[in-house]
Amino acid sequence: MIAVGRAGEPGMKRSVTEWKRRLDGLCREVVMRRAGASRADGNPEQWYGACEHCQKQGWLQWCHFASRRFSALRWNLDNCFALRAGCHYGWAHQQPSEFAAWVEERLGPKRYAALRMRLKTPGKVDYGATEAYLLLAKQRIVNGGGD
Ligand SMILES: [Zn+2]
Repeated sequence: MIAVGRAGEPGMKRSVTEWKRRLDGLCREVVMRRAGASRADGNPEQWYGACEHCQKQGWLQWCHFASRRFSALRWNLDNCFALRAGCHYGWAHQQPSEFAAWVEERLGPKRYAALRMRLKTPGKVDYGATEAYLLLAKQRIVNGGGD
């Protein structure tokens, strides 16, 4: 057994709580970087940038289309957006049909349909595969490959 020093090392044995914390942090980071946000000094969970809905600059929140209670979609990047608090709680959560139309327009009909399909067919989450997916997405964004 190889000694693993870093918490971010792939293939590490983790409890469900540790996995969720790890994948939440990674997914939030990918969503924020994809939106062009910058991380606050000293707080890895605080990001500043333009809201993906209204384009205004501000502190951004990691926002889900299908609630993060649906664990199969909690770390799906098509299900996640970077919104300011006002747009997150005052718009996305208050105007679900407008939010759905906005998501559909961003994703296009095919990816939106795939997302809806996943929503109706929840399954077990493979944490390791999810981590690999998020790390690849992060790498692509950091290297400027776009999506
Ligand atoms: Zn906004």
